[in-house]
Amino acid sequence: MKRRKALKNLGVGLSAGLWMPGLLTSCKGDDPGPEIKYDGTVVIIGAGAAGLFAADILNSKGVKVIVLEAGNQIGGRVRSLRNQKEILVQTAADFPVELGAELVYGTDSIFGDMIKNYSLTRIDLATESTEQFILDSMAKPAMDWSGDADFNAVKNFLAGLPTYAGGDVSMKQAAGVSTRADALLNSLAGNYYGSSSDTVGAKGVSEALGLLEHDNKAFIIKTNPLQDILVSRFSTIVPKVRLNSVVKSINYGGTKIIITDKEGTQIEADKVIVTTSLGVLKTGGITFSPGLPAAKTSSINKIGFDHSIRVVVDFKRNFWGDGSGFIWGGSQGPSYLNIGVGRSEFYRTLSITVNGPKAQQLSVQGENMIDSILAELDAIYDGKASLYIRKVINSDGSEGPRVWFLADWGKDEFFKGGFSYLKPGATVNDRVDLAAPINDKIFFAGEATDVKGDAGTINGALNSAERVVEELVTSIISG
Ligand SMILES: Cc1cc2nc3c(=O)[nH]c(=O)nc-3n(C[C@H](O)[C@H](O)[C@H](O)COP(=O)(O)OP(=O)(O)OC[C@H]3O[C@@H](n4cnc5c(N)ncnc54)[C@H](O)[C@@H]3O)c2cc1C
Repeated sequence: MKRRKALKNLGVGLSAGLWMPGLLTSCKGDDPGPEIKYDGTVVIIGAGAAGLFAADILNSKGVKVIVLEAGNQIGGRVRSLRNQKEILVQTAADFPVELGAELVYGTDSIFGDMIKNYSLTRIDLATESTEQFILDSMAKPAMDWSGDADFNAVKNFLAGLPTYAGGDVSMKQAAGVSTRADALLNSLAGNYYGSSSDTVGAKGVSEALGLLEHDNKAFIIKTNPLQDILVSRFSTIVPKVRLNSVVKSINYGGTKIIITDKEGTQIEADKVIVTTSLGVLKTGGITFSPGLPAAKTSSINKIGFDHSIRVVVDFKRNFWGDGSGFIWGGSQGPSYLNIGVGRSEFYRTLSITVNGPKAQQLSVQGENMIDSILAELDAIYDGKASLYIRKVINSDGSEGPRVWFLADWGKDEFFKGGFSYLKPGATVNDRVDLAAPINDKIFFAGEATDVKGDAGTINGALNSAERVVEELVTSIISG
């Protein structure tokens, strides 16, 4: 609850209720009336978790908000397969499958708290599933590797990360494990944090772990797609979102801010909150005039944001083991998650997350990436992946194409990658620079601007929304 205290400390008469989830404020007849006297319009760019939450808080205080969203749906990197109506063949899974974020971190985190308010059934992966680790093309639980020196070297390195005191180098250099354990290290200390063990900095991860304010337990929701949770939680904001509005430029040189979209339509605003991914900022998806300050462009370059893909594969049988959760250490698939664990009798779907250079490589392979992934699983599970992959059954009873799904976030122009991470040489201070408002007019939110150790997650996006609203409200009352 520390963050909420900070907001109340603004001393502008904000009631505690303001910071409660919308369900609690907007569904009651005794909603607090507008408390912030402001005639201006705040335009929020992006309807992901950060944009929706910032809009919700401002809206609940009577501030006029418009949300411009480039895509045709709400949620950003929270996107559930079930909601993608253009995907005609759906998974056979009787539980939701996620194309972006799939885990909720922290039972007492900002997103964990929102979920608690809905009384949804959570599956705690640590207690309700068993992890497996791949070495020498064999996947086994930790206990079975306990006498293995390379496995222990990786495990001990990870356990020591919160108190890491070594050089400002990559995870791989910091860990110094043997080549045999490279893929395992990459999986747990590189891919997990958004890229590879060659690119993610050990100090940055350590610093972030030290800042966390919640228990960081990882869980999945039994029956509800995460995208639906966001849409429901922010239902008052949904009508204020203008879909298919691709912002191309923001001119903040005059009294009013002029936002121009892809069609050339212009919108005037008094304040703007930019919540687009770091990938969009890195690739100049939006042009700022005047240009961004040097400290901000420097932080945009220093913080990493790499290619990311999610591959979901349906099988006719679970050949990887009842009760299995994550299978770590693959080279093609650094992170396999048995996404049905605890949710269904049918444990037949694997959710594979690949980040960094490997994601880029697989993306280049296109449709053939599935062969690379199946070949790796075949090597571990005696050819069972190719044997049991589910296929579409044609109307004449013959077998059609294999059933698998791909979300290529790196190729998507509205994301340009997965989630942010600190490279060697970068610190949380770079996130502070990235977040810094410009001239009390342009404000920045989104997971990459989180400074509470939650960057790269939904919590990071939500934290950043609270922070940015505090900055914006301060600029109103002091302006
Ligand atoms: C494969 C993958 C797996 C992940 N797994 C997890 C996980 O398990 N748990 C977890 O907590 N987090 C996970 N994350 C990270 C999490 O999804 C993000 O941190 C979070 O959703 C980011 O929210 P955001 O609001 O900051 O940004 P976004 O969700 O990116 O929202 C920004 C919005 O801006 C829009 N936009 C972009 N350009 C423009 C433009 N020019 N004009 C208008 N709108 C624009 C985009 O369409 C998007 O909707 C994962 C991410 C990926 C990609």
